[in-house]
Amino acid sequence: MTTANIQSQASSGFDHDPYTAAFPELREFWQATERHQLLVKTCKQCERAHWYPRMFCPFCSSPDTEWREASGEGRIYAFSEVLRTEVPYVLAYVRLAEGPVVMTNIVDCDPDQLKIDQPVRVLFRPAQEGRSFPVFTPI
Ligand SMILES: [Zn+2]
Repeated sequence: MTTANIQSQASSGFDHDPYTAAFPELREFWQATERHQLLVKTCKQCERAHWYPRMFCPFCSSPDTEWREASGEGRIYAFSEVLRTEVPYVLAYVRLAEGPVVMTNIVDCDPDQLKIDQPVRVLFRPAQEGRSFPVFTPI
């Protein structure tokens, strides 16, 4: 893992996105997804990554945390195909290689072929509101 080079951007899609406006603690995360980088909050004291991002490390309570770029790889922890919608999709929890489990979607796949613990890697898809959001696909 490397420390992500965070740069502010003058104006972009997420500036007008009510979701990112409602969760300022995630601003750096969404800025990074626009560069197709996946960040996870990591504690500089115990070196453990966590999700959802918090002001204090959930493992050792240290306030000394930072965003770091994740490898973008993980494994399916749990998944379910959502069929009661116009366009079916796969809702999943993925355990990142860095440790945290994140809720996401599995895309570009045959849902009948998915398996628990299957390796996946991150992709970024545009949301209607303007930001890019991370999804995963089988490797
Ligand atoms: Zn810690």
